Amino acid sequence: MSTRILIVEDEEKLARFIELELVHEGYEVEKSGNGREALEIALRGSFDLILLDIMLPGLNGLEVLRRLQKEKPIPVILLTARDAVYDKVSGLDAGAVDYITKPFAIEELLARIRVALKLHAVDKQPAQSAEPKQEGVLTWGKLVLSVPSHSVRYDGKEIFLTNREFLMLKTLLENRDIVLSRDTLLNKVCGYDFVGETNIVDVYIRYLRAKIDEAYDIKMIHTVRGVGYVIKSEEF
Ligand code: CA
Repeated sequence: MSTRILIVEDEEKLARFIELELVHEGYEVEKSGNGREALEIALRGSFDLILLDIMLPGLNGLEVLRRLQKEKPIPVILLTARDAVYDKVSGLDAGAVDYITKPFAIEELLARIRVALKLHAVDKQPAQSAEPKQEGVLTWGKLVLSVPSHSVRYDGKEIFLTNREFLMLKTLLENRDIVLSRDTLLNKVCGYDFVGETNIVDVYIRYLRAKIDEAYDIKMIHTVRGVGYVIKSEEF
């Protein structure tokens, strides 16, 4: 099944440009230049990702995002104007997974699309007999991370993590077998204020390894040279 992306952008030339690039990359694309129409298209179609401009006729992009989140959560990357800090913050608060500032290099947009699709894959075909799993609990061998109780245990013993260490571990566990770049981890854990300061990620990884890998003599977090970090699933 091909990956479907909805482009919501009222600047015709930009929309057309993005469309051509995405089709070239093998995505299936629909586009709309009106917020109200886009919301309808999004609600009736099955899209894996939406690229959403904010200043739109019909219905403002943020409003489209809010309504969409209520009815049908699809990962959204916002296309924002330069310096529109308020829009970016409100957009992320409203549930957008990422934003990109116009004008942007198409390579950057494509990279962000790939990351968003990896991290927020829409489950189009729910499993017939899904195993009853406790909500928000991730396990790896003897390690149990519980989102509701914000706790991590190894073999029953509690491991005390800071909020950022916890978020980083959670992100790695949720994306096991996917090598996450330092930038991706940084965005997830520290947000956008830290762009470029990817050595922060190495520091947190070091803390996590000391508290888990070294403390329990296991090898959970792997470094992939020049790429990032990964927790693999098939180690038991
Ligand atoms: Ca616009």
